[in-house]
Amino acid sequence: MNEHEEIAKALKARLSELRTHLAKVNRELHKALPADSEDQAIELENQEALEVIQKTETTEIHQIEAALTRISEGTYATCAKCGKPIDSRRLKALPTAATCISCSA
Ligand SMILES: [Zn+2]
Repeated sequence: MNEHEEIAKALKARLSELRTHLAKVNRELHKALPADSEDQAIELENQEALEVIQKTETTEIHQIEAALTRISEGTYATCAKCGKPIDSRRLKALPTAATCISCSA
C-alpha cells in the first residue's frame, strides 16, 4: 500500500461522514415550518445556519471527490497549475490541496 492509498482511505472515511451529516441537514431543511409565527422565525434562522453548513460541506465533498480522482489517476500531489510536486507537509495539513503553495497564494 503506497502513501496515497493511506490518504485515500482517510478521505473516504471523511467523505462518508460528510454525506451522512449532509443527509441529516437536508432532512432538516425540508422539514415543514411550524404554524406559530414566532416558532417559524426561529426555524427560519435555524435553516439559514443549516444552509451555510450545507454549502460548506458540499464544497468539502467536491474537494474530497476531486482529490480521490487525482489519487486514482496518479496525479495526486502534483500541482494542477504548474505541474510541480506539492510539498508533502502541505498535503498533510490539507489533503485536498490541488495546487502547490506558490500557486495557491
Ligand atoms: Zn504550483
